[in-house]
Amino acid sequence: MNHQKMWGKEPYFGLGYEFDPQWYLSDRQKDLQERLVGVCHDVIRPEAIRCDETGEYPWKSIEALAELGLLGCIVPEKWGGKGENHVGLAMIAETITRYGCASTGVIYMMHMAGLAALLFRASGNAEILDLLGRLDSDVMIGSASFTDPETGGHFWYPKISSVRKTDKGWHVKKNASFTTSCGHAKWVVAQTTSPNFEWDYSDISDFLIYADEITAHPGQWDVMGMRATVSGPVEIDTELPDERMIGGPGDGAASNDEAVNAVAMILYGALYSGIAMGALDVTRRFTTRRRHAQYGQSVADYTTTHDVYGRCLTDTQASRLMLYALCQELDRATNDGDWTIYETDPDARVRTPFICWGIELKEKSCRVASEVADSMFHLFGGAAYSRRNEIERILRDSKAGWIMGPTNEIARGIVGRWGLLGYEAVDWWNQRVNEGQLNAELGKLDAEGKRAIIDRLEQELADEA
Ligand SMILES: Cc1cc2nc3c(=O)[nH]c(=O)nc-3n(C[C@H](O)[C@H](O)[C@H](O)COP(=O)(O)OP(=O)(O)OC[C@H]3O[C@@H](n4cnc5c(N)ncnc54)[C@H](O)[C@@H]3O)c2cc1C
Repeated sequence: MNHQKMWGKEPYFGLGYEFDPQWYLSDRQKDLQERLVGVCHDVIRPEAIRCDETGEYPWKSIEALAELGLLGCIVPEKWGGKGENHVGLAMIAETITRYGCASTGVIYMMHMAGLAALLFRASGNAEILDLLGRLDSDVMIGSASFTDPETGGHFWYPKISSVRKTDKGWHVKKNASFTTSCGHAKWVVAQTTSPNFEWDYSDISDFLIYADEITAHPGQWDVMGMRATVSGPVEIDTELPDERMIGGPGDGAASNDEAVNAVAMILYGALYSGIAMGALDVTRRFTTRRRHAQYGQSVADYTTTHDVYGRCLTDTQASRLMLYALCQELDRATNDGDWTIYETDPDARVRTPFICWGIELKEKSCRVASEVADSMFHLFGGAAYSRRNEIERILRDSKAGWIMGPTNEIARGIVGRWGLLGYEAVDWWNQRVNEGQLNAELGKLDAEGKRAIIDRLEQELADEA
């Protein structure tokens, strides 16, 4: 029998534990979940409301997470963390977002994406190991600075970036169009093309960069939702010692597949499931209380309301089950989320086989959050517009997932190519010739058109030679 979910001293106004897939959680994780709901009630939710209004960064909420040991929760115990597994990480991110603050959820996600890159290559790197040990004690919130203004939602394509070997280490140059916790993150993981780059964009490298080595533009974050994430642009033009390269030159693609993407995609699933559940919760509170005198019944009594709410709850539960099932499988594949496996076998690729499952989850959960928040908004009638009822903030926040990289359009393209044509056709770095499309276009040309193309290609070959 499920016990009562509490909100401060009152029973929770939204959906109770019987609507949560608690069977995925250990007793320790259920206990953590309950404590985190309490912190959301006391600190993170009030801060969500305040920071959404002011655009301030939610420092109090980040400090509250650090107090619970959640900034370093996935760090193995031998490196100073709690060794939390994928299921636990998903529960934490979903809980922060659902009961607390969506912006804090995104901040947590980008911190964890950067942290995954560090954990993948922590072994033997004293600089990284030192940072891992003080994530919570020093509230070392971090981020991932990947998205390039020229290549956008294909965030693994850092076109305007470079790195050069110097006597002291590496000279790194990068522009990123978005970096969550811009001007607040104490460190970021940034991705660039590799040293001695020869136009192969899959040849990428990662760097650990501290706040004083970044030029941040937090003031440019003037946005409709996820306001407290402060995801503004950053510039990096700095010289770093050798050990700040994470892994070796060219390790970035492996890091993306095995660490960054794997963690980021399950956190998309967790965050946006949290947003959808949060929308369902506040709608339950509103529709059961709002009564229409002419019928003597509440909005929750209309059969049309049941239909909309039932559809949205079903869609949300489908994306949550997808999330926790994938996390459970990742836990099995990684010896329960153990990042020390790369100490003995740096070439281990245990999350990589699930990469497209993660992208499917990202697409599904972000679409569901956007659609559910939309439908719930309508059930409030005019009251939807009132800040007091919170659904307008949830609706604004819900729209970010779809447009975050890989955008849902890009994600569907990847999954579609994978399904129809095989994994090779996913073509992350635009290297594979689509012969079908090429032949179709060439077939449209007359002799003169074909000759012009032959001349151009011959000229290009001559230039290259
Ligand atoms: C709140 C928030 C926080 C963020 N935080 C970070 C962060 O911390 N670090 C980071 O690196 N990035 C971050 N980003 C960036 C994010 O991950 C995306 O990369 C970005 O939102 C999409 O890039 P863009 O705006 O350049 O869009 P574009 O890529 O220019 O997309 C424009 C449109 O073109 C479509 N499109 C693009 N390519 C294709 C294609 N091949 N097929 C079909 N359609 C296509 C897109 O779907 C979209 O509809 C953040 C974004 C937001 C909104």
